[in-house]
Amino acid sequence: MNTVALITGATKGIGREIARQLGEAGYIVLIGARDPARGEAVAKEFVADGIKAAAVQLEVTDPASIRAAAARIAAEHGKLDVLVNNAAIIPAGDGGVSEVAASALRAAFETNVIGLVEVTAALLPVLRKSTAARIVNLSSSLASFTQVGDPASRMSTVRTLGYNSSKAAVNMVTVMLANELRGTGILVNAADPGNCATDMGGWDAPRTPAEGAAVAVRLATLGPDGPTGESHAESGRLPW
Ligand code: NAP
Repeated sequence: MNTVALITGATKGIGREIARQLGEAGYIVLIGARDPARGEAVAKEFVADGIKAAAVQLEVTDPASIRAAAARIAAEHGKLDVLVNNAAIIPAGDGGVSEVAASALRAAFETNVIGLVEVTAALLPVLRKSTAARIVNLSSSLASFTQVGDPASRMSTVRTLGYNSSKAAVNMVTVMLANELRGTGILVNAADPGNCATDMGGWDAPRTPAEGAAVAVRLATLGPDGPTGESHAESGRLPW
């Protein structure tokens, strides 16, 4: 039977690479894109490379868009085997606690947390139709209390409260959803791609988007004995 994966924010960067790698592994990949034309362009390129791909319009802050995407996946595929919650922003005006704009905090939580939760909740009915669904939430070292709390760590110097705290909330979503779904066969984990060269990560970042994608792909393709409710990077399990 065909296995189906949806990747949110798959128009560029790490999300696009996650989609490519899952497609190369044989999944039908649904390219989540808020701009349908850009989603179609990525799907077309993948199809030309022999990957089974289609674009799905998905703006994670728009409940109508989320509902339509969930309905379409139910109608066209009847199930969803992998959901990768990749779409995220570092909003304009983000900064340290003493300087962050309230609008930036709201924007970060709107996209990175509320959008992720609403997308996941809307797709749970089709994920439950899979025999072994996997949910992967893209997180970050900047969400780690262990790393940000270590004055010797580079993470302690990055002043983006909206981004860091919204991704810390994503970690809690991961743990709580794993608890809710324990025993169902659905595994839920967080992936830290490391600092990758993308629009978000900066083009001088040390890792390629493909290298960053690999950990999410590994968590998306876990066997039945795989972990749930954990955070992983290339090096293995991470402390929260
Ligand atoms: P990116 O290049 O900025 O790409 C972000 C993707 O999310 C784009 O496809 C973007 O769509 C989409 N997106 C943003 N807001 C959206 C919304 N409201 N609805 C739907 N899609 C939306 O970022 P990236 O570097 O690839 O990051 C991917 C993930 O990895 C993120 O969760 C990020 O937090 C995480 N991460 C990245 C790094 C890094 O160094 N790059 C490190 C740690 C964690 P558009 O193309 O329409 O803008």
